[in-house]
Amino acid sequence: MPRNYDIAELRRLDVAHHLPAQADWKEIENLGGSRIITHAEGCYIHDGDGNRILDGMAGLWCVNVGYGREELVEVAAEQMRELPFYNTFFKTATPPTVLLADKIASLSNGRLPHVFFNSSGSEANDTVFRLVRRYWELKGEPKRQIFISRWNAYHGSTVAGVSLGGMKAMHATPGLPIPGIEHVRQPYWFNEGRDMDEEAFGTLCAQAIEERILEVGPENVAAFIGEPIQGAGGVIIPPKNYWPQVEAICRKHGILLICDEVITGFGRTGKMWGHETVGVSPDIMPMAKGLSSGYLPISATAVSAEIIEVMKTGGDFVHGFTYSGHPVSAAVALRNIEIIQREGLVEKTGNETGPYLAKALATLNDHPLVGQTRSVGLLGAVEIVADKATGARFGGAEGTAGPIVRDLCIANGLMVRGIRDSIVMCPPLVISTAQIDELVGIIRQALDEAVPRLRAIG
Ligand code: PMP
Repeated sequence: MPRNYDIAELRRLDVAHHLPAQADWKEIENLGGSRIITHAEGCYIHDGDGNRILDGMAGLWCVNVGYGREELVEVAAEQMRELPFYNTFFKTATPPTVLLADKIASLSNGRLPHVFFNSSGSEANDTVFRLVRRYWELKGEPKRQIFISRWNAYHGSTVAGVSLGGMKAMHATPGLPIPGIEHVRQPYWFNEGRDMDEEAFGTLCAQAIEERILEVGPENVAAFIGEPIQGAGGVIIPPKNYWPQVEAICRKHGILLICDEVITGFGRTGKMWGHETVGVSPDIMPMAKGLSSGYLPISATAVSAEIIEVMKTGGDFVHGFTYSGHPVSAAVALRNIEIIQREGLVEKTGNETGPYLAKALATLNDHPLVGQTRSVGLLGAVEIVADKATGARFGGAEGTAGPIVRDLCIANGLMVRGIRDSIVMCPPLVISTAQIDELVGIIRQALDEAVPRLRAIG
């Protein structure tokens, strides 16, 4: 049972001392503090006001096995008793760390047999950044420094992560993005390509990558990085022909292909990896979130044999973190993967709950505010529009309707995110079909309630 917290006092202390992540602290002060989440089980979280909320976001795209897994608690306690910490700096390693590296290698069917550990998705991408530049230097092509990424991509919040990402609001810090990163258009058909068919748009977006490569000179390009499905950008599912063309362009110009699987890994899209869903084979794959289902912080960067062979010619790779390969996080991640496999959560998402979510979301298409629903596996979005025919947004610009509908979802007992004017979801992979009905039912209810408010805005 949850402890008996003094919620009012916690909210006061939150305002007085705590600086929440990615937040407007003045807004939180005006609200009298953050919503305090006290406990959770299965697919539900509970807040300090006594609300039980269906967690349509799996925490922050991460709690794949759901809340309340006693065996993860036990495995952490056991590892803490035996060895709570040791590092991997001094020619040392710990049992869970090595076993987890082996496990991840086997999950990539041996194509990415080497694994570097970090604590967060951002750090996994910092590792990518340094590893790739070092690789090309050692390979005798030091000019290959440039990364190609997409606008509205999300690759983290560290200096390298935010620069690799393409969120303009996050670049609005002096000095960012750092040099050597080129951003090209994203394959967001609903917003940017509706005047053409999806395939033609997919080709156009892939071509934008090749055009940029030719502009900066292929001999200067190190890698292309992309999320197989953009998550934080708004669950953007590219046209089917996009990724295979991207891969072909990378191969043609000898450029490394990096799939950021921080959200899309571990079954989220109905296959173990998002890159399998979109039909490509990366040279490097950062992962986090579903790796431990968020029970403890851990991330990994899986790398091809070819790259590591080159890295081995260069002596020390002077990169790493105190918590690289943290034994307790690694032990929890190992058991988490065991649960995913034992319970067939990848197959369940691919064959049962993923298709069920797609069908359930499609029932919203008749709603006057819905411009499009889309999903892959258990990753979905609903686009809110003022005019179904033209796709025009409320208030004349994006970002008016999303927060309103999101807040109504939460008030009705569903945690989702509003990204611009889309409602996005990423529930735990243990969600049942009845809970998917509940999720979609609450979105419909919120949309209904939003109609008069949004029509008043126009
Ligand atoms: N890459 C992707 C694709 C992500 O979605 C995220 C986090 N949402 C990150 C990297 C950064 O992960 P973290 O917040 O753990 O640093």
